[in-house]
Amino acid sequence: MAAFPEIHRIRRLFVNAYLVEEEDGLTLIDALIPGSGARILAAAEKLGKPILRIALTHAHGDHVGSLDELATALGEVEVIVSVREARLLEKDSSLEPGEPQERVRGGLPGARTKPTRTVEAGERIGSLEVVACPGHTPGHIAFLDLRDRTLYSGDALITFGGVTTAARSNRLFPVTTHFTWHRSTALESAKALRALRPARLASGHGRVQEAPGAALDRAIARAERS
Ligand SMILES: [Zn+2]
Repeated sequence: MAAFPEIHRIRRLFVNAYLVEEEDGLTLIDALIPGSGARILAAAEKLGKPILRIALTHAHGDHVGSLDELATALGEVEVIVSVREARLLEKDSSLEPGEPQERVRGGLPGARTKPTRTVEAGERIGSLEVVACPGHTPGHIAFLDLRDRTLYSGDALITFGGVTTAARSNRLFPVTTHFTWHRSTALESAKALRALRPARLASGHGRVQEAPGAALDRAIARAERS
């Protein structure tokens, strides 16, 4: 294996999933829109390793769309979601006491597939560390690859049309903000992700951004002004 793992992005329309290589196989981050199973399996086949784990950043339909399809095709696969987001994956969007009492937005189609593991911040999934970044959804998580500090940020930070936060996205791709549950929480999470000093940003929408620090600072400043 190379010193720094390669980024394997799988695109469908404007949505990204990623295959993360580990010694024993692959971790798939997010599951695209429905009907993407064949594309994801073909990408894994190209890498010559099995998908052992599916780790979800959040439960929006464009990130879990092919989960059932993949779980059926793979047979045995670990399905990992945050403790809080697991309820959204069951289409239960009721809020918890202490949370901002705002309606959870965006499509939550749920899945027949049940998580085999629920995680909280600080837990490890192979080389990935789970980072809590609520705001876009209540239980949104990101994954920091500790080998090279690639941050798989889901929709907490996106890169489509430039680096933006879920608190305030750009005109090119406004849907992330539109479907964000709670903006000031999303802004706090963006700052927490920035503090991790990611070496590259692999987000749910847009291309991989190398050395995103300065662009992230600008995006956070812009969101703070709004
Ligand atoms: Zn989303």
